[in-house]
Amino acid sequence: MAYKPRVETGELLILRILNKRMNLTTEEQLHYKNKEKGFEGEVEFDLLTEKLQCECFILNDLLLEVNNSKFQIDTTFIFQETIYPCEIKNYEGDFIFKPDRLERISGKDYKNPLDQLKRTKFMLRQLLQNLGYNIPIEGTVVFINPEFTLYQAPLNEPIVYHSQLNQFMKKLDMQPSKLTSRHKKLADKLVSLHQIESPYRRLPPYKYTQMRKGMTCITCNSFKITVPTGARKVVCDDCGCEEGFESAVLRNVEEIKLLFPDKKITTNLVFEWCGVVGSKKTIKKFLMKNYRSNGKKKYTYYI
Ligand SMILES: [Zn+2]
Repeated sequence: MAYKPRVETGELLILRILNKRMNLTTEEQLHYKNKEKGFEGEVEFDLLTEKLQCECFILNDLLLEVNNSKFQIDTTFIFQETIYPCEIKNYEGDFIFKPDRLERISGKDYKNPLDQLKRTKFMLRQLLQNLGYNIPIEGTVVFINPEFTLYQAPLNEPIVYHSQLNQFMKKLDMQPSKLTSRHKKLADKLVSLHQIESPYRRLPPYKYTQMRKGMTCITCNSFKITVPTGARKVVCDDCGCEEGFESAVLRNVEEIKLLFPDKKITTNLVFEWCGVVGSKKTIKKFLMKNYRSNGKKKYTYYI
């Protein structure tokens, strides 16, 4: 099991909500889809690393800083003798390897992830030295997508393709590795140094009034949600998925909090956000049960 599990960034969580509740521009939508796709690829890689039997610490998604520069590592393995950062790419389609970039056959250029890996290794080395560790750094770029082809890539570069994933996992599993308290200390130190960036800096502009109101399905994001009279659940007319009414309301409260951290959560606000389903009385009951109330009567809000 991963020593540091992977979670969606705040930016991705917010983009998901914005994508269903407002009209993003084509460019914003592309940015969102790339983020989603990148995350999917990382999660797919996690499914494989979870099965590793060897002794190692797996740290997913680290954002670290050294000498005022930040660097991000998708997956980091700590073995007895080495530390092994991986850069995961979920690119799809046909690409040509160029020394300074990857060129998509259909035209667009991408940064060469090997450069990114080189930078990561360089920064990580400095950080480890500062922390008093002199441990060799290896590392690789993983192209996780089965429909990715890279033409003209040199053979001696640290690249793992989809067809080589099983072999790569076997290779990691074969590492003779015995971890000590010193390795645990290093893992704990790196986790403690992980930075969480504010998601609000890189988002497209959005306003409360712009947002499409209404409950959405937990599975398919459809707005076609009904609350059968007297039932304590909501039902999606599109996919048939059912969810407890209370959990659906709380999920919507969390959406508001994530998008508008400065807004006061009131019964009226949640009632409006949920698209005027159920009754204000029920929503108030859920808020009182799950949050702390502040203020009096009609000025009550929940934190
Ligand atoms: Zn649905």
